[in-house]
Amino acid sequence: MQSDTIAAIATPPGMGGIGIVRVSGEAAFSVVLPLFRRPGGEQALPPSHQLTYGRIVDPRSGEVLDEVLVAFMRRPHTYTREDVVEIQGHGGPLILRRILRLVLEHGARLAQPGEFTLRAFLNGRLDLAQAEAVMDVISARTEMGLRLAMQQLEGRVSARLRQARQAILGVLARIEASIDFPEDDIPAPRAEDLRPQMWAAQGLIEELLAGAEQGRLYRDGLRTAIIGRPNVGKSSLLNALLRSERAIVTPIAGTTRDTIEEVANLRGIPLHLIDTAGITPTEDPVEQIGIQRSRAAAESADLVLLVFDSAEDFTAQDRQVCEELQRLGFGQANDATAKGRPVVLVLNKVDRPRALPVAEVRRFWPEAPLVMTSTLTGEGLDQLEETIASLVQTGKALQSDSVLVTNLRHQEALRQAAQHLQAALATLEQGLPLDFVSIDLQAACQALGEITGETASADLLERIFSEFCIGK
Ligand code: GDP
Repeated sequence: MQSDTIAAIATPPGMGGIGIVRVSGEAAFSVVLPLFRRPGGEQALPPSHQLTYGRIVDPRSGEVLDEVLVAFMRRPHTYTREDVVEIQGHGGPLILRRILRLVLEHGARLAQPGEFTLRAFLNGRLDLAQAEAVMDVISARTEMGLRLAMQQLEGRVSARLRQARQAILGVLARIEASIDFPEDDIPAPRAEDLRPQMWAAQGLIEELLAGAEQGRLYRDGLRTAIIGRPNVGKSSLLNALLRSERAIVTPIAGTTRDTIEEVANLRGIPLHLIDTAGITPTEDPVEQIGIQRSRAAAESADLVLLVFDSAEDFTAQDRQVCEELQRLGFGQANDATAKGRPVVLVLNKVDRPRALPVAEVRRFWPEAPLVMTSTLTGEGLDQLEETIASLVQTGKALQSDSVLVTNLRHQEALRQAAQHLQAALATLEQGLPLDFVSIDLQAACQALGEITGETASADLLERIFSEFCIGK
């Protein structure tokens, strides 16, 4: 157990009805108790896990900082499995900072990002995959993303992983017993004794891998760049997809100078929509920056919505945009989950008479799905959503109880485990000495253990928890 006591504001920055300062560690009670005054002057520690009313008072000056409810929570039934105190004060940034400062002056130190959850992990309350799920639960953008994160938090992903790891460890134990104690009467296991458990582990891993690509879409979403020459209706389309008015829509060409990123919910998949300032050249230095950013946005996108004005001719700028996108390799395959980076053609403003020669567009994109829309009347927007959904939901419909891996790190570790297991099976079939099989099995175990944390290095832990916010 860590000996020092940490503290942080646990509620988001800004103003709210209440705000919470969280304190955890061996000295949590002895730090907070002298700062807490109850109406009757009662000095004893209040009962564990109950809210107690009182005031936070600076003992040096007697100044009352805030009227609060405090929960003293005795380990081990706490978030960190250490003694924890939560001080509920008024939710103003200044008042919470003053309470925090007072706590820090009386023996706690400021918590690092994610340190409460790191302690929960180090003290065995959560495994690493569950700790990561805490962040996913907090940052979930869609109901589906939240459901999958909860599943991971409750340990359903970990349980599958542990099952696979146990199977491999079982095989390793049998091999190692025969290697370590050859003089004893332990006969070397035969391939057919080892295979079934290795296959069982392989089956579990393959099953998790099969759903991982889709799971990742639900967690991370799809970076979708809205691209086209100025004034074709990109910002209007962004707004229509968001069904809000966050992006500034303006009738003057080229005034959307920066890129705007918003998240729409497309049937459970967070669609990170990037409205770009157009990727056609300009002299204006401010627009130059916008163009660089939109080119970068396009380069990193998983999917492009390429917008045209159907009421105007196919212009030189339209052609430039198409050429640029082709240079970036978009539209060569129409499956977003297979890194195909598809293009969807959007012929906007269909409420006006058609002037765009579609053949010109088709010359560039013979296969890409094409949707006619009007952001003014709403025509075609459902069909556009349908089209995008069909590009990403290539997998089978999700069962309500299916366990999905949603995290890229987990997916990569699973892939490694699968490769090592495959190699171990091949070595076994070739009849090579069991030491060789054992090396690959150990590597597979190591990879699985990195997901749940049994074999995670200090560097890996640091990397993961530094992405958390302070107070978590
Ligand atoms: P952007 O420069 O590509 O982002 O284009 P905007 O979204 O700013 O739209 C440019 C102009 O076209 C604005 O005056 C919009 O009101 C108008 N506009 C956008 N979509 C449509 C549409 O579907 N029909 C019509 N008639 N006008 C539209």
